[in-house]
Amino acid sequence: MKKISVIGAGTMGNGIAHVFAMKGFSVTLIDISEAALEKALATIGKNLDRMVAKEKISAEDKAATLANIKTSTTIAEGVSTADLVVEAATENVDLKLKIFRDIDANAPEGAILATNTSSISITKIASVTKRPDKVIGMHFMNPVPIMKLVEVIRGYATTDEVTQSIMELSKTLGKIPVEANDYPGFVANRILIPMINEAIYTLHEGVADVAGIDTVMKLGMAHPMGPLQLADFIGLDVVLAICNVLYDGFGQAKYAPCPLLVNMVTAGKLGRKSGEGFYVYTPGSKDLVVSPKFS
Ligand code: NAD
Repeated sequence: MKKISVIGAGTMGNGIAHVFAMKGFSVTLIDISEAALEKALATIGKNLDRMVAKEKISAEDKAATLANIKTSTTIAEGVSTADLVVEAATENVDLKLKIFRDIDANAPEGAILATNTSSISITKIASVTKRPDKVIGMHFMNPVPIMKLVEVIRGYATTDEVTQSIMELSKTLGKIPVEANDYPGFVANRILIPMINEAIYTLHEGVADVAGIDTVMKLGMAHPMGPLQLADFIGLDVVLAICNVLYDGFGQAKYAPCPLLVNMVTAGKLGRKSGEGFYVYTPGSKDLVVSPKFS
């Protein structure tokens, strides 16, 4: 595989383009928004600058990486010569199904189609294509250039050969791949999201306060971030959406989202991206300040 098309130039798409381009792949980054493409290139540039400053790469490596990335605003043009397409557009089922129909109609017959979805069924996405055997989950973690894990998720029809080539490719990127089957939440979110939801229940029931819950998990379990801070980092709307995927997919009460989580999302308190969740966020400040609602 030499030519990679990445669809969606947001948080994940720019990181995915970055890691492929740094390993010498020819990358086409595709987004419907010109502004998103410009922002993604600027972010990749800044992240590469940081690596140069830390002497992890040279200035020449930075230039070579950027030279490996071109952009496009249309899927038809952007995937026409791809060996692999990695879709990292907005987490919305209908949107992803539409994008995969479009990719399938325009990518070369032999191309593998991967999705970075956090929670949508790979089998469902594959079902709208004429090549379900070549559709696979390639779930990178945020921030992509730093996080080592790639969850490689086999859909119902994904072949051993396709799975193996994505496992190998992930290693080529310097990542550590783990294979999983296609059930709600895969492995990462099936375990992480109920833990976060339980932390929110623990707060909701008054067992401990925000700082207390996060401190227990940081100091007691050696987690780098407490679950409530992590929820703010992921986005409470995203946490709720994945909770609902688990609840709908398994039909078990243990996955029901905490009413406090639902209320916060309804009130627009989405965590870091909205400026407030369990903590409040002031631009330019790294201080962790508990929201007045919980202090
Ligand atoms: P984001 O909102 O930052 O970026 C999504 C991008 O998709 C936007 O730039 C948007 O313009 C673009 N887009 C929307 N419709 C499009 C279309 N039709 N064609 C091309 N581009 C389109 O989202 P994100 O956080 O980067 O998430 C992307 C995917 O990665 C989702 O499936 C998400 O579940 C998954 N994911 C996210 C994280 C995370 O921490 N953010 C971690 C793992 C996986």
